[in-house]
Amino acid sequence: MATIKLEIVSPDKVVYAADIEMLIVRSTDGELGILPRHAPLVTGLVPHAMRVKIDGGERLVAVGGGFMEVQPEKISVLASVAELPEDIDETRAKKSMERARKRIDEYKSGDTDINLMRAEASLKRAAARLTALGKDLD
Ligand code: ATP
Repeated sequence: MATIKLEIVSPDKVVYAADIEMLIVRSTDGELGILPRHAPLVTGLVPHAMRVKIDGGERLVAVGGGFMEVQPEKISVLASVAELPEDIDETRAKKSMERARKRIDEYKSGDTDINLMRAEASLKRAAARLTALGKDLD
């Protein structure tokens, strides 16, 4: 099967690099599926669990946002934060989600929009991590 190179880089390291069959991401313009020989593209990414199709299976990678550059032979993801499931601390992500939900409730009853946006972004990062761990979100 045809493959395309994928490299996911966070500010401090290369999080993941492999020859893959397909990458499914949530971009700022919606969901995108990238196959080998895709047309060149640059887009923003929102916090979510990216789906990497490789060796006939699927691997999830949590990303907190960033950019993706696609060339026909290579996909480069420059992420603000990115983690493989084996590196995600589930308890921490659950606590972060609870904290963010509580703040969102508080901020909705009067505080500034900036705090609300920060709490919502934190909630989305926690949701991306729990989704990458295969957890159902409630
Ligand atoms: P928290 O509220 O738990 O601090 P956060 O979403 O605010 O989470 P980030 O700012 O996205 O955290 O990340 C800060 C650093 O901590 C990054 O290096 C990120 O990879 C790491 N990190 C955050 N949450 C987790 C987690 N649940 N498991 C593993 N690493 C995490």
